Amino acid sequence: MDGKRIVIYCSASYTIDPKFNEAARQMVRALCKKGYSFVSGGTVKGTMGVLSEEIQACGGHHLGILPRYMQGLEYTGVSEVLWTDTMSQRKEKMREGTCAAIALPGGIGTMDELMETLTLAKLGRYPGQVFALNIDGFYDKLIDWLDYLVDTRMLDSDTRELIRFPRTVEELASYFD
Ligand code: AMP
Repeated sequence: MDGKRIVIYCSASYTIDPKFNEAARQMVRALCKKGYSFVSGGTVKGTMGVLSEEIQACGGHHLGILPRYMQGLEYTGVSEVLWTDTMSQRKEKMREGTCAAIALPGGIGTMDELMETLTLAKLGRYPGQVFALNIDGFYDKLIDWLDYLVDTRMLDSDTRELIRFPRTVEELASYFD
């Protein structure tokens, strides 16, 4: 395992508030400085494209993983592209060898990636740390929902502790050496 590889889940939308893309850029700069490499969905779309641009600008290593049917959407400046047959294989390959998974603000695709990874962490099948960057309280409703799951005993509190919600890029970066 490359001890300094992080998987990033983020929005594919072009119309989100630019503050979320700025947070993505800041995060890349902070983690690149610490010598981390990145894995993402690798497309040109939305925050993913912004992330790719910033990693390239910082000279970081970026593995983009896409299902074959997204051919043509890949960001051409990634260091490496890996093609998969399905979205499920993509998610599995994205996690492989990573020490952490970070969800930036995103929609249902990001949520799917985050929840699958958290579920695997709960089952002891994902050894990395799990984060959702809670810029401007974007993930407050998810925090409430997870706490509700604990209250209703649908989720055990040890699993609840497996995901952290740093409110700033600085706080997020403080978890990484
Ligand atoms: P979303 O959060 O719904 O915008 O979906 C983006 C996230 O899910 C990214 O982290 C991608 O890996 C994955 N994904 C889901 N749908 C797409 C798509 N149409 N194009 C690129 N990535 C996608």
